This record gives sequence, C-alpha cells and structure tokens, in this order.
Amino acid sequence: MTEKVRCLIIGSGPAGYTAAIYASRANLSPVMYEGMQPGGQLTTTNEVENFPGYPEGITGPELMEDLKKQATRFGADIRFGMVSSTDLSAAPYKVTIDGEKTIEAETIIISTGATAKYLGLPDEQKYAGSGVSACATCDGFFYRKRKVAVVGGGDTACEEAIYLAGLADKVFLIVRKPFLRASKIMQERVLNNPKIEVLFEHETLGLTGDKVVQGAKLVKRHGQSDETTVHIEIDGFFLAIGHKPNSDIFKPWIETDEVGYIVNVPGTPRTNIPGVFAAGDVADPHYRQAITAAGSGCQAAIEAERYLSEKGL
Ligand code: NDP
Repeated sequence: MTEKVRCLIIGSGPAGYTAAIYASRANLSPVMYEGMQPGGQLTTTNEVENFPGYPEGITGPELMEDLKKQATRFGADIRFGMVSSTDLSAAPYKVTIDGEKTIEAETIIISTGATAKYLGLPDEQKYAGSGVSACATCDGFFYRKRKVAVVGGGDTACEEAIYLAGLADKVFLIVRKPFLRASKIMQERVLNNPKIEVLFEHETLGLTGDKVVQGAKLVKRHGQSDETTVHIEIDGFFLAIGHKPNSDIFKPWIETDEVGYIVNVPGTPRTNIPGVFAAGDVADPHYRQAITAAGSGCQAAIEAERYLSEKGL
C-alpha cells in the first residue's frame, strides 16, 4: 500500500515537532513518524532549565508532550513507526515504514536525532540491563542508596552525575582528561556535590561482578610512567560520552561527514537532495541544544513550504 504525502517528518524530537507545528500551520498536512523513542532524547532528560519560556524549568517529557500537543492542535498526523528503508533517487521520495508501508513524499524533513555512544567494551554487552545504562533518568531509580559511576566529562555526564547523586549514596565521575569539558555552572555543581567524586585521568578497562555489575577496573594516567590500576566498587555503570547521529538509513543518498552528521547547505537545513531537509542533532555537530534543534525544525518546514510552492505541488 502506498500513501502520498506532501511533507514527511521523520523523528520526533524538538526539531521534528517544531517542523510539524510550522508545516501544519502552512497547510502542508505533514505526516510524522515518531521513531523508536517518541519525543527523542529529551524524554530521558530530567530538568530542562535552558529552553526559553520556562523560567522555572520544565521536565524533558513535559516539554516534548507540550510540543506534540501543539503540533497535533494544528493537524499534524503523528504516528508510531520506524523508517526501515529509503529510496531518495527521484522525487517523490519513497520511504518504507516498518518494512511494510510505503510513503511517497514530495518533501522530507529528517529529524532523527542522535543516540548515546558506548565505550565498546565487551562488558557493556555482558552487563546490559544488569548494571550498565546510558540513561540515568530511566534507570537511576534502581540505584537508590547504592554506588554508581558515570563516564564522561561533558554536560550530559555532569547532569547524570548530579541526578544520580540525588538517589545514590555515592557517584564516581570517570573523566579521561584532567579537566571537565562541561559548562562552568555544571562543573561547579559537580565539584561542590559531596556525593560526587571526580576521578580525573581515569579510563575504564572493564567491569566486574557475578551476573550484575559489582565493580569497575580503571586505569589512571594510562600510558604514563606513573600509570596505576584502580578498582572501584559500584552497582551501576552509566555512559555519558556523547552521541552518534541517526543517519545510517539515509547514507546511500544523503551526504554525511565522517562522524555521520548530515551535511547541510551552510546556514540552511537543505541537504544535497532537493526537497529533503535535515534538522536538529542529526545534522548538528556543534550546538546540539533543544532550542537550536527547534529553530532548525522551523527553518526546515519553511523551506519545505517554499519548495512545494515553487514546484506548484
Ligand atoms: P560531549 O561531546 O560534550 O562530551 C562527551 C564527553 O565524553 C567528553 O568529556 C569526552 O571526553 C567523553 N568521552 C568521549 N568518548 C569517550 C571515551 N571513549 N572514553 C571516555 N570518555 C569519553 O557530549 P555531551 O553529551 O555531554 O553533550 C553534547 C552537547 O549537548 C554539548 O553541546 C552539551 O553542552 C549539550 N548538553 C547540554 C545540556 C544542558 O545545557 N542542560 C545537558 C546535556 C548536554 P573528552 O572531553 O576527553 O573528549
């Protein structure tokens, strides 16, 4: 079964929902497929303090629910489903949903975001769901009054460490460099939190434990003359080392950089294919903020509207 749509939005983070709000208000009758994680990464974030318009902050899930309601109010058709393959060789572009349904789209807005990265240790697989997690908000609850470690030195790692410190008895922050990359305010919060111990210049070698995580083997000052191995006792091991853009399914057609970020025409959400736009984290190696994603979703919808009207579609 083939369905024809004027504007297909793939992915449902701040970029996708904002594109849906603008596209529906421009009468493009957008259809959105939400993907595996409706609402995107912000649904696994606790407090969002920097999205303009919320002076007291708002939780990630609430913000995404509000954006979704706003898009639905103007008629966006928001559906559950995953894109399983794409054929962008000629317009209208063909997109298969869940291996079954084919959509023929005149314009596509790709807003598939990015996914948490892992270190690549075999132990991450071995203890998956048994002490290893990439989402403190999702799994932190299980570690009340326990000891946990968070890997990473960016804003995400600091945010996760602070969140976990509200639940656990002790949080180790494992940072490979001698400094934190996170913003000053987050650094201060981490360094002033008595439950958080920052282990600078430490890398993880592996995890230990009988069926569930009970400890981590670390190396301090790896490769230096004073290199030492360190063992910490933990019940939970949280990854917060960045993200991989979710662009694989578009790669045969859409230009990406070496990491996988979709390459936009500078200053626009246009891709190398006319009528196909990319917004949000999937195309943003620099800012990766909810507000910048929302802004680029708005741009993508405006571009889609102009493209369709120029083509008389
Ligand atoms: P970042 O890329 O900023 O940081 C990743 C961290 O993980 C770095 O400290 C990096 O170390 C470390 N890392 C990467 N690979 C490894 C590895 N193999 N082993 C050990 N450590 C590793 O990602 P974030 O997810 O923290 O943030 C992404 C963006 O989102 C940023 O722009 C950030 O500001 C933003 N953000 C904003 C928030 C807010 O404002 N509330 C909340 C969360 C994120 P190194 O420094 O050595 O490279």
